[in-house]
Amino acid sequence: MNFQNRVPCGSLRPVDAGRMVQAAGWVDALRDHGEVIFAHLRDRSGIVQVVFDWNRAPRLRETARGLKEEFCVAVAGTVVERMPGTENPSLETGDVEIIATDLTVLNPAKTLPFLISEKGMTAGVELAGPGAVAEDLRLQYRYLDLRRPSMQDHFIKRHRIVKRVRDFLDERGFLEIETPVLTKSTPEGARDYLVPSRVHPGHFYALPQSPQLFKQLLMISGFERYFQIVRCFRDEDLRPNRQPEFTQIDLEASFIDEEFIYELMEELTVRMFAVGGIELPRPFPRMTYREAMDTTGSDRPDLRFGLRFVEATDIFRNTNYAIFQKIIQAGGCVKGINVKGQSDVLSKNVLQNEYAKQIVPSLGGKGMTWMRVAGGNLESNIVQFFSEAERQEILRRFEAEEGDVLMLIADPSYAVVTSVLGKLRLHVAERLGLIPSNTYCPLWVTEFPLFEPTEDWVTSCHHPFTAPDRVDFDPRNRDELLSLRSRAYDLVMNGEELGGGSIRIHDKKVQHKVFEALGLTPEDIAGKFGFFVQALEYGAPPHGGIALGLDRVTAMILGTASIRDVIAFPKNRSAYCPLTQAPAPVTRQQLAELGLLNLGGETVLPGMEKEGDIIDTLSWVSRIGVVESERSAIHAAVRQAERLAEKIQAIPGDGEPLFAVIDITQPPRPGTEARISPFVQSGELLKNAPALKGDYFKVANILE
Ligand code: ASP
Repeated sequence: MNFQNRVPCGSLRPVDAGRMVQAAGWVDALRDHGEVIFAHLRDRSGIVQVVFDWNRAPRLRETARGLKEEFCVAVAGTVVERMPGTENPSLETGDVEIIATDLTVLNPAKTLPFLISEKGMTAGVELAGPGAVAEDLRLQYRYLDLRRPSMQDHFIKRHRIVKRVRDFLDERGFLEIETPVLTKSTPEGARDYLVPSRVHPGHFYALPQSPQLFKQLLMISGFERYFQIVRCFRDEDLRPNRQPEFTQIDLEASFIDEEFIYELMEELTVRMFAVGGIELPRPFPRMTYREAMDTTGSDRPDLRFGLRFVEATDIFRNTNYAIFQKIIQAGGCVKGINVKGQSDVLSKNVLQNEYAKQIVPSLGGKGMTWMRVAGGNLESNIVQFFSEAERQEILRRFEAEEGDVLMLIADPSYAVVTSVLGKLRLHVAERLGLIPSNTYCPLWVTEFPLFEPTEDWVTSCHHPFTAPDRVDFDPRNRDELLSLRSRAYDLVMNGEELGGGSIRIHDKKVQHKVFEALGLTPEDIAGKFGFFVQALEYGAPPHGGIALGLDRVTAMILGTASIRDVIAFPKNRSAYCPLTQAPAPVTRQQLAELGLLNLGGETVLPGMEKEGDIIDTLSWVSRIGVVESERSAIHAAVRQAERLAEKIQAIPGDGEPLFAVIDITQPPRPGTEARISPFVQSGELLKNAPALKGDYFKVANILE
């Protein structure tokens, strides 16, 4: 068969009836009717039905009978319109089929680990799709999982989104420039992935958490507008929608201010979302960090629904209600939400026994005050403690009407009130179905604090290159540092952060001051960022930028449940790749080559000539370096082992320790499921076992 004449399976329509065509692809599904076999032939463009009919093409019988799902095949035949009543409206080609005159099996396939087909062969039947298969199995056979039309569609759309980004930024004069992957640590608040250098033993590259410093250097180099679709690496604790490596749309521009970024990114976001048929209204609203926290308890507010916080502290300033009185006297606050018209669903019982007693404490709150509006009055278990004036003011402030439910959180700590009420706001919205689907609410969050408190000092909220709103601060005054605002901005959509950036510091003195505020010594600064601080001394222009998470944006546009569905070869939730089994152990030889078995070099890994000392000998034999401070502890442990060996030798008998194999059963604990770890399957888990029986480690019966 000549593949040059191949027609895309998904392209055939009734106008093609009568054409002799050749097609190639995979067998999506089969239906055997004895004299006739129907096959769905699938390629990237779609699916078409092929008919193998013994009466018309008897010589195909043998081969057609041997077909199985996912065989790679080529067929030739004539396109015909389907008989009325046999059309399949779930296929775009459902009005036609190919009557095969030729069939070649290009490559057979083993029995599949899961069903790939998503289209039923008869009208109206839809198959389950990827969601029905355990995700680790999908990831282990990702190349098969990616054959599904629904998965292919994600990557076609992702390609279109990326193409739009490139075209748009090119239109606006941005240059795509690559930055290094083997580099030095760039602080973005996560741990670095480190890569040991073979040629510089004991030295490491860091994989970039972002190209932050390089993009700033490109501004100093005079490129004026840079962008990159770039892989970033962050060794963070596992979280459901995070990946150790992910892709950013990263950009930076010189001689600009915040308004430039807002305009540019709004246009870019509108164009990206249009790939998914989503129209975003412009301009995007803006909210300061303070307002976001005050009214939603979150720095990434979900604006698809109301339930904005109402400030109520001043209503209760002179209250007789002891709990509020104490909290307010301690400098605390009271805030609440009005859940409109839900008093039927939020009964007294639900409010008191579920929310006040269980849900709010699980969200970190000490308790919750609730009130319902019934018969024009407030009702609750504590309303009698409020004065008439307080009750009237509550009704007015919360704009409370018949059937509304008020939920209030009071605490001496503003952070506790906003955090608990913020989580409660989301909980109630989800439980009551108040979040509309197919609604997209973009938002700029601005004026973030420059620093946030740590236990002993402060740390950057964004990264240390973000410009402060003023530069006359004292870097040793913690309270003043915590009062500074930054010129940072986040782009938020539906409660998720799509990206963030800032106007940067371009003055060396200010940069030094911020480093000093972070507690870095001149030596730290020189060691970590010397090259960058030096570059600021050569006429660095004012500049700023932003980065959007491409995986997250794509997942939102396509409405996938997880970012893993828009990444071709993602890691699973445990940052493990079931396909390649990465991360994997390496040989001792590789470790030795990289200098990792001898971390301190000659001084801590003595050679043979130092044989006289037991610690040096052990260190040399095991190729594990020992530092001076560990010597005495190791000496003591070795002495203990020697004494034990002496005791064993003193035992009468032939001196050999006794081993006995006992039967081991490993029932799962009640209420848990037995699960086989990939390390067991690959043999890694038991590789150091002295003796094995099946999948089990044999132990001496003394341990029983
Ligand atoms: N480097 C920042 C980040 O990765 C984005 C930026 O400031 O442009 O979050």
